[in-house]
Amino acid sequence: MLVLTAAVLAAALAAAAVGLAVPADLPPDDPLDAVHPLARLAIVAGVLALAQLARLRFRVAAGTVSVTWGEAAFVIGLYLAPAGWLPAATLVGTGLGWGLLSIFSDRRSIVEILHIAGSLTAAVALATAVTTAFGAPLGAALTPALAGALLLGSLTYLLVSGWLAALTMSLRHRLPMGPLLLRALRGKLPMFVGNVLVGLAVITILEHSLRWLLLLPPLWWLLQQTYSQRLRADDERRTWRAFAEATGALNQLDERDVATAGVQGALAVFGADRVDLHVARDGGRWRHYGGGGGEPATEHDLTGAPEAESGPHLLTRPLEVGAKPVGELRVRFPRSVLPGERDRDVLSAFADALAAALHDAATHQELRIMAAQSSYEAVHDPLTKLVNRAAMLSKGDLALHRLGHDHPVALLLLDINNFKEVNDTLGHAAGDELLQVTARRLQELRRDGEVLGRLGGDEFALLVTSLPATPLPTPAVPALQLPVATELSVFGEWPASLPYPLRRAREIVEELALPTEVAGVRMSVEASVGVVVAGAGTADMTELLRRADIAMYQAKAGGGSIASYDSTQDAASTDQLALLAELREALAADDQLMLALQPAVDLATGAPTGVEALIRWRHPRRGRLGPVDFVRTVEGSELLGPFTRYVIDKALAVAADWARHGLDVPISINLSARSLLDPRLPSEVAESLRRHQVPAHRLVLEITETVVMSELGVIDEVLSELRAMGIQLAVDDFGTGFSSLTFLTRVPVDELKVDRSFVMAMADSPEAAAIVRSTVGLGRELGLRVVAEGVETADQRAALAELGCTAAQGYHFFRPMGSDKIVTVLQTQLHSSQQARIFPLRADGVS
Ligand code: C2E
Ligand code: CA
Ligand code: CA
Repeated sequence: MLVLTAAVLAAALAAAAVGLAVPADLPPDDPLDAVHPLARLAIVAGVLALAQLARLRFRVAAGTVSVTWGEAAFVIGLYLAPAGWLPAATLVGTGLGWGLLSIFSDRRSIVEILHIAGSLTAAVALATAVTTAFGAPLGAALTPALAGALLLGSLTYLLVSGWLAALTMSLRHRLPMGPLLLRALRGKLPMFVGNVLVGLAVITILEHSLRWLLLLPPLWWLLQQTYSQRLRADDERRTWRAFAEATGALNQLDERDVATAGVQGALAVFGADRVDLHVARDGGRWRHYGGGGGEPATEHDLTGAPEAESGPHLLTRPLEVGAKPVGELRVRFPRSVLPGERDRDVLSAFADALAAALHDAATHQELRIMAAQSSYEAVHDPLTKLVNRAAMLSKGDLALHRLGHDHPVALLLLDINNFKEVNDTLGHAAGDELLQVTARRLQELRRDGEVLGRLGGDEFALLVTSLPATPLPTPAVPALQLPVATELSVFGEWPASLPYPLRRAREIVEELALPTEVAGVRMSVEASVGVVVAGAGTADMTELLRRADIAMYQAKAGGGSIASYDSTQDAASTDQLALLAELREALAADDQLMLALQPAVDLATGAPTGVEALIRWRHPRRGRLGPVDFVRTVEGSELLGPFTRYVIDKALAVAADWARHGLDVPISINLSARSLLDPRLPSEVAESLRRHQVPAHRLVLEITETVVMSELGVIDEVLSELRAMGIQLAVDDFGTGFSSLTFLTRVPVDELKVDRSFVMAMADSPEAAAIVRSTVGLGRELGLRVVAEGVETADQRAALAELGCTAAQGYHFFRPMGSDKIVTVLQTQLHSSQQARIFPLRADGVS
């Protein structure tokens, strides 16, 4: 910019100096021959100054363009003074004119004034050169040829001054120059024609009679009015066109787009120097968008409300929709423009449009967020952020569709073991945490292209779509069950040649088994995984899930952690579901579930030491079912609670009955490990004891040591509550678990039941015999009863007696019997044992 100023100024000074240096060649009929050369120069400069002072202004893109009477002054000046003087006169005259304008109207810097004066001087110098090339206007009568030369000169002046002005504005505001020049020329053209005509008229008058000059002011006034009218109309049209374009551009859906369009629009409509838009956000925050002054548009967040500003060139308008503040618009006009009423009106119309557009955009944005949120929520599980069941199905089906018919895919269905207990005992927050931990771990194991989802509850599914090329298992392949994760350390490595989907399942089980802390409790997540492999085109997701569900059920039922789908089990598992429904009926019916009772006897005396209650189901359709046929299924269902209560109630009813016959024999009930996780158990047992009026010490609860696997405090609590009530505890199947002894240190018990397998193996296996012997020793040490289970032969009985075992149970003594027989059997047994006590040697006696 400064370079341009310096250039035009240098050119102007050079032209002025050269012009003055050339000797003036005054014609004989010089119009001002009586006037001193300096005064003549002053007159011409004055005319040129006047021409600037009588300027009219109109607005262009970013500011105003002044149109002056420059061409008229140029023509008159050439008539009055030697051509060489004109640049100097222009430099002085226009400098003076703009100096005055700057003082009384729009404030401009010295540099700007020098820039304008220099530009106009350069234009005059060129124009003068063009004119004098075709004629000699000084004091000459107007001829068509001279008029032509003057017209050409004026045109040069117009083009050069217009070009320099456009160049200046384009540099200052970084706008393209072409349109600026065109607009300036178009606005100026009628005035240019008038200017030249006025100039020519004036020199004609000067040539003939000065009196006619009196006509000049009214003519000038008339033209001035016409011009300004036209410029105003032009400006009006331009404003409204810009307004229409700007408001049209506000039609956007995004706040930033609206705001940017608003800033650009205001810049165009008002020809503003700078526009600042502050958009109010939620929570008293503001965002600022700014533009203008040739600077690139800016935007940033404000920490507080925008600071107030004021000034003669600044218009500020709050943006509101209804009474709701949306923001604020500030338009800074160029220093050359003092905004008026009309600007205010246009601004409020524009601000209203902008406010509405911003409000619409905000509303739209909210809707978009809500829509995105609800569509996210529609397909995602809010807790784990995994896709939900519905989305798992649709995504999975889509993935299946994309694959070839026989392309193998695998679906892994995972269910957390004992999740219900965590939820019940540690609370739902802990349950949620556990699910999140699980989801996170699964997410980490998910590979590209695989679909992972939470199906609900503690069930997760993983669809594996790219399996390494291994043949699909044929339906003949039996279900593969793998040992539970906790037994990994016991059994060592997994089979090496597992098919890929099972390897993935194992990977998942192992990863989940890594200890984690939930609600302050350290635990390891045990999971059961059902795996199904099929051709992508042979089954849809619903079917794959169904099969995986069966496999998962098998994994749980089989005590393993992983099972793959086996179609032969399909029917069986559907059956399990039916079984549960039937059990519900059986629990209500009261004549299907029966207790078989098996006494245990004192090996020395044969006296009954206790009676174990064993469940039987006389199924109306399936026939007689033993515990193996349904207890596992019950344990995995919500029917366990009602079932346990049922058994306790039945057993205590029977015990109450034999107590009425004066028999003081305890009854043993088998408890599922899971029942111990129910904190209501002790109070329910107490209630049942009260109802049947059976003393607590006559109830023995048999528990297997699997209980120890979960170190949940609730188990200890339930057990110690039961013991505090006086109920006896027995460890069932003692010796089969791998933590039997640990269990004893944790829970004080009254009885150990040596597992049948040791009794059976005892004769041939010294190890089994050793286990029996040490259990007996342990019992003696700890003051516990030791009962050997499954005694079938007299040899076993003798061997047990030899090992010091005092009590036993088994077919050798009694098979489990109906409750109708038990009283008689107990009475007989008691009676014969008393006889045995009287004649203790009879058993080994003479016979
Ligand atoms: P258990 O607690 O080890 O029960 C002993 C099992 O051995 C019973 O089988 C019994 O009939 C059988 N038995 C007794 N003497 C002999 C013998 O000399 N030789 C042989 N081979 N077997 C003998 P049952 O009734 O089929 O019960 C199986 C398991 O079902 C029980 O094992 C127990 O864990 C469970 N169970 C039985 N009743 C219930 C119940 O009411 N609730 C729960 N939760 N589980 C039960
Ligand atoms: Ca038992
Ligand atoms: Ca047992």
